[in-house]
Amino acid sequence: MLQITNHMPTEDLRALDAAHHLHPFTHGAELKEKGVRIITRARGVYLTDSDGNEILDAMSGLWCVNIGYGRTELAEVAARQMRELPYYNTFFQTTHVPVIALAARLAEIAPEGMDHAFFASSGSEANDTNIRLVRHYWAAMGKPDKQVIVSRKNAYHGSTMGGASLGGMQPMHAQGGLPIPGIVHIDQPYWWGEGGDMDPAEFGLARARQLEQTIEELGEDKVAAFIAEPIQGAGGVIIPPETYWPEIQRICDEHEILLIADEVICGFGRTGEWFGSQAMNIRPDIMTIAKGVTSGYQPVGGSIVRDTVAEVLNAHGEFFHGYTYSGHPVAAAVALENLRIIEEEEVLRHVREVAAPHLARAWARLGEHPMVGDVQSFGMLAGVALTPDKERRAAFASPKGTVGQRCRERCFANGVVMRHVGDRMIVCPPLVITPEEIDTMVDRAWRAIDETFEQLRAEDLFRPA
Ligand SMILES: *Cc1c(COP(=O)(O)O)cnc(C)c1O
Repeated sequence: MLQITNHMPTEDLRALDAAHHLHPFTHGAELKEKGVRIITRARGVYLTDSDGNEILDAMSGLWCVNIGYGRTELAEVAARQMRELPYYNTFFQTTHVPVIALAARLAEIAPEGMDHAFFASSGSEANDTNIRLVRHYWAAMGKPDKQVIVSRKNAYHGSTMGGASLGGMQPMHAQGGLPIPGIVHIDQPYWWGEGGDMDPAEFGLARARQLEQTIEELGEDKVAAFIAEPIQGAGGVIIPPETYWPEIQRICDEHEILLIADEVICGFGRTGEWFGSQAMNIRPDIMTIAKGVTSGYQPVGGSIVRDTVAEVLNAHGEFFHGYTYSGHPVAAAVALENLRIIEEEEVLRHVREVAAPHLARAWARLGEHPMVGDVQSFGMLAGVALTPDKERRAAFASPKGTVGQRCRERCFANGVVMRHVGDRMIVCPPLVITPEEIDTMVDRAWRAIDETFEQLRAEDLFRPA
């Protein structure tokens, strides 16, 4: 395979990047001070940077490289498809073979009765589709007032106007006049951070019942849908108490609203099932997909739609919506190859029987550290809270995120990419990671946390708020 080993010196690349590249989700001043990290190649679970350092990627890129890096089968499929039909659209009564095959394959792996897919190129676009789709659906059903979508604070549903509005990230809303109208946010089921004196089961029910209260306050005739991630990813790997999802399902069953499961992270094996909805035993009407559907090798997003909803859409004229790259043939071919690998290499079984149990055991060891609380994992998602007092579930005196940010820097220094969300540290490794690699990942995470702890103590910052 061709590799770009003969690139310019790191300093020159950095200077060009600083001069011309505006980065997404990056603090300008910090970038300028520290310089950008340049990743040049990757294989399996390891990245290599422009100075030749090997780093274990415990974040699967951005939660997406489910089958790991360096799978040349996907490159070959892409090249073949580019030669045969590099592009054609799916508007105006046309289609092509890769998108037909991908839609049919998704219908096979999706839950019963969800046999239709609408394609986009990202999770954000797919969630924009969902906003328009559910509102159009209710209008077609003769209920045009059912427009409001209920979401959750600290949810992540993307970065477009619609996606960021559905999301519950306050700093994102503060820029650009969001959220758009017709979106209401309830509280998240984050027991460790917000549960107070309730036990987790009681708290899970209370948070779920906010959905019912909101439907009652707004009026069932005004509410179109509820959207949520089965497990919140970018919000900090928030695994809801066991009581939460069954109660949400009950509320959705008893009220006439659609349930949208945002499976962008949870889908395609992350929980040990094809979809997080199956792991949580919920019955969505729409599932948002992206990320793991191609393991990140090509940009694909989409909405998997329940047949009863699709039939209404198909029976009511034209849905005036679509993207030039909806169902792009090269991307669809790569998605199919990725799904073939997941199936034939029994990646779901590897997650359920090997990787996830091993991760749970190894990750639990972090709980022995004096600065670590809320040690949790589900499938191949795991998180911990950094805390100065785990008994009291206390936050640090320093502004939220400062400790997490320091820890993240120690992670890079120790050869592992973990992400911080506030003062939570989270991982989402490739599903194909081996037990030995999990041990390496957790050892490096421990060292990063411990070095952060030593720094804080030396500077007298290991103090509760
Ligand atoms: C990443 C993500 C999105 C947005 O997907 P993009 O491809 O970045 O637009 C939406 N929902 C969830 C749950 C995500 O994690």
